[in-house]
Amino acid sequence: MPMNQWNLQPLPSVTPDTKILCILAHPDDIDFGAGGTIAHAVAQGAKVSYVITTDGNQGGEDPNISREEMARIRRQEQTQAGKILGVENITFLGKMDGSVFPTLELRKKFVEQIRIARPQILITQSPERNWERIFASHPDHLATGEAAVQAVYPDARNQFAFPDLLEKGLEPWRVEQLWLTGHPNPNSYQKVTDYFDKKIQALTAHYSQTNHVTDWPEMVKGWMQTVAEKAQLPEGELAEAFFVANA
Ligand SMILES: [Zn+2]
Repeated sequence: MPMNQWNLQPLPSVTPDTKILCILAHPDDIDFGAGGTIAHAVAQGAKVSYVITTDGNQGGEDPNISREEMARIRRQEQTQAGKILGVENITFLGKMDGSVFPTLELRKKFVEQIRIARPQILITQSPERNWERIFASHPDHLATGEAAVQAVYPDARNQFAFPDLLEKGLEPWRVEQLWLTGHPNPNSYQKVTDYFDKKIQALTAHYSQTNHVTDWPEMVKGWMQTVAEKAQLPEGELAEAFFVANA
């Protein structure tokens, strides 16, 4: 696809009244896909929380680390990365890494989390496959994104969906906007040049995932430069891309 076919608008702005819930498949996904945007939103005063579907226990490349140990390490790394960006409220659902499906059970978990957090904005992963970067479309990402979008519409706002949640006092909640990461045709960007260092610090906290990859900060910077170019920002700027949909 030619470079100029993305038509990127600035992301909607956030205020101290904005709540953002991020639902991602693995520890590190939010930091790779949206770390700069999260740091920017926190700096505007927005309240951000994360729900992570799996513990990422299939991650890393060291066969001497047990998978239980890897899960423990990755929760710790995500907790640390969250602190760096100013996000303390993180829920781990503990699903099996590599085995996420958009089941009704997963959708219900997400509805529960949406009704607890009551966000205006939900950040999740694109349920549409990105053929230009297939690692952005890990099956767990597609499944998490699909179940999260299904949870936003129709279930979180529907009092008759999962009536036991309402019995527990979790009132229906209408999310206003979806911001999808890893989408094949993003329509929005956030300029995050000033938050690049924080994003790299957060990613560095995912030591088990990044320590064996040389030059990963350059790779991350390269993606962000590409988005900035497509957003027609001046040279030297960095940006992150999203597909934004009203919900
Ligand atoms: Zn992932």
